[in-house]
Amino acid sequence: MSMCADSALGARILELAGRLGVDPTPETYALFYRYLSKSDDKLCEALDAALARPILPSQLDLDRIWRQFGNASDGQRLTSLYDASQIQLQRLSLYVESAGDDARQYRDALNEGNDYLQATDDVVTQRELLSRLIEATSAMIEKTQRLESQVAIASREIQALRSDLEQARAESRTDPLTGLPNRKAFQSYLEIHSARAIADRKPLSLLFCDIDRFKQFNDTWGHRLGDEVLKLVGNSLEQLCQGIGFPARYGGEEFVIVLPNRDTRAATDIAEQIRDFVGSRTLRVKNMNRTVGQVTLSLGISQLRWQDSLDDLIERADAALYLAKETGRNRVCTEADTTSVTKLAASAG
Ligand code: GH3
Ligand code: MG
Ligand code: MG
Repeated sequence: MSMCADSALGARILELAGRLGVDPTPETYALFYRYLSKSDDKLCEALDAALARPILPSQLDLDRIWRQFGNASDGQRLTSLYDASQIQLQRLSLYVESAGDDARQYRDALNEGNDYLQATDDVVTQRELLSRLIEATSAMIEKTQRLESQVAIASREIQALRSDLEQARAESRTDPLTGLPNRKAFQSYLEIHSARAIADRKPLSLLFCDIDRFKQFNDTWGHRLGDEVLKLVGNSLEQLCQGIGFPARYGGEEFVIVLPNRDTRAATDIAEQIRDFVGSRTLRVKNMNRTVGQVTLSLGISQLRWQDSLDDLIERADAALYLAKETGRNRVCTEADTTSVTKLAASAG
């Protein structure tokens, strides 16, 4: 982009900020830059919608659009939500303070008026005092009404910030491609449910699940189709684990499922169902009526022991998955299989 175009854009950005009565903070500047240079469809749509409303968007509305569509990092989003909440709270406390000042002034005016009324018998002066008191009362009512509406606006904005915060929290725990919980969400789910399983003396199993020869799939069919396969596997896990377990994307083409109340035997049945379900689907490319064959899964299972750390549990499921790969893929192995292989190797040695 040329210098000339840049400075023209800069002027338009400042003009827009002026029109909306907002400060061109770095975030607002970046938002307007993307909007006016039309470099981001979703961001443009959101700001167009905000500008089409009868009331011009406030700084808070702009911050919200920036948080949602500006590709800010989780940390930046949370910092900006925190700052916005602080500003609203400060605003509320200023309102409360000024309401206190107004009430004190009003009380003083009433007291003073009362003193004068007591001190005079002159009807004209009394009337004049009364009309001043009525004036002070009307002014106080007006201030109270204004305050009420300012507090209502601040409360609404705080409410909106809270829901933004909840959304940011949910997004920070979701894998954007498959919509499944991500590794962080899996870790906290496992922490809570393994502690509960130990306390209640109930079993809990872990199922690791990895797509077979996925690199080859990507190399043959392309990364985009690979992404579709990941979504399909994610969907399948979600469907099959409904009400029985917690599936998550562990990373890359690896998924993990926490199965509370399931021992290795029950987990093996579920794993076989998953393997069968995914492996028996024929993948077709949309609009091309072309099949890309099957995708298979290897799965490894471990069951929680009372002295386990979470890393121990994960490591054993991972070792079982490794064995499933080693022994031919498209199969389910348990931690018991890994120990019997170790024993066999030892007795052979
Ligand atoms: P194995 O049967 O031993 O698991 O073989 P593999 O090819 O599946 O395993 P490898 O670890 O060699 O390769 C994993 C591949 O997964 C490589 C990488 O490109 C692909 N992958 C990881 N994440 C994604 C993703 O988000 N999208 C796509 N399309 N591919 C991904
Ligand atoms: Mg793989
Ligand atoms: Mg892998």
